[in-house]
Amino acid sequence: MTPQEAVEKLVERTGVERYRHLAFEHPDPTVRAQYRAFALAQEAGEPYKAPGVVKQATSLVRAVVRHAANGFAWVPADVLGQRLAVCASCEFHDGGRCGKCGCFVVPKAKMASESCPAGKWPAIKSGGKCGSCGSKS
Ligand code: SF4
Repeated sequence: MTPQEAVEKLVERTGVERYRHLAFEHPDPTVRAQYRAFALAQEAGEPYKAPGVVKQATSLVRAVVRHAANGFAWVPADVLGQRLAVCASCEFHDGGRCGKCGCFVVPKAKMASESCPAGKWPAIKSGGKCGSCGSKS
């Protein structure tokens, strides 16, 4: 089965048209490759494997560094709600954790500097300002 066929079957089975964009049109080649591999694994009936402890620890350290570099900015409540709604319906959401990076979804979604590793929601660069009130931190 080709990646194109796997993605088409996945879209047909789940009704999630966005998989086409994520697998073939997303600007990040890593995201495209991950979604093609995800579709192939799904259509082959293989379970998705969550990241191991080392990857989870690496993701956490990188998230904290990005958070510090972004002035420790948090997102406003409406953005947090939007991010969490996307995570709640995400195929990678796994018991409160993101199955892509291994991070806990709620603290990850609160940090303005964080973005979804599957390209479903972007980071918000604050330039050292609070993501909620806009004042310098
Ligand atoms: S961060 Fe992205 S990949 Fe992870 S659970 Fe949320 S929406 Fe899914």
